[in-house]
Amino acid sequence: MPKKGVLAVISGFSGAGKGTIMKELIRQYPYFLSVSATTRKPREGEVNGREYFFHTKEEFEHMIAEGELIEWAEYVGNYYGTPKKAVEQQLAEGKDVLLEIEMQGGMLVKEQFPEAVLIFITPPSYDELKSRLQGRGTESAEEIERRLNRAGEEVAYMKSYDYIVVNDELTEAVNRVNNIITDEHYRVSNSMDLIADMDRELGRHAEGE
Ligand code: ADP
Ligand code: 5GP
Repeated sequence: MPKKGVLAVISGFSGAGKGTIMKELIRQYPYFLSVSATTRKPREGEVNGREYFFHTKEEFEHMIAEGELIEWAEYVGNYYGTPKKAVEQQLAEGKDVLLEIEMQGGMLVKEQFPEAVLIFITPPSYDELKSRLQGRGTESAEEIERRLNRAGEEVAYMKSYDYIVVNDELTEAVNRVNNIITDEHYRVSNSMDLIADMDRELGRHAEGE
């Protein structure tokens, strides 16, 4: 059996650059990026099954009822959730899995997977956040306002994360996130089999076998 993969939760204010960092990570490394389900409408260029699985509210509620989601949350008027099956499968196969989700979801994942590593992405400043959200050009002024208000509430979650990565220079932020996840493999808790093997063999040695 391969060693289980690392489960990484990546969260941050809307416009922080999470999506951009995820794209770079999967372009450069063999991560599995979980595709979430959502009830929000696709943005221009978004493809069903690639950025998100786009669903109606009824379909989404059915998935909740059937226990198909690891976690779900409401964000600025829409549902978002992480499909369970693919994530569990990929982790079991030893792949490192990325969940790009908001913070209530992040907390729920930590409860179910205490070994998950939680990474918070933030832009260097409020001004930069606002200008990135505006510059992306995918939301109306009202929607941007709602997302900035939500960001104000989300600050409270920052302290619950394991790491904060400032996305100032993109390449640097991508490398930092990759390094954090890579280092998780070297945690003692990820080597319990090795410890048990050593313990058994050295125990035998002590008994003169
Ligand atoms: P999120 O997924 O966190 O909502 P995006 O990845 O969509 O954010 O990024 C928001 C905007 O900021 C996009 O237009 C993106 O091109 C831009 N962006 C992302 N990272 C950087 C960066 N390091 N420097 C400058 N602009 C960035
Ligand atoms: P957007 O509409 O900008 O794509 O995403 C809005 C917010 O929803 C972002 O903070 C994003 O991380 C979060 N999100 C995306 N997928 C999920 C998910 O499966 N679960 C949760 N809880 N949040 C998600």
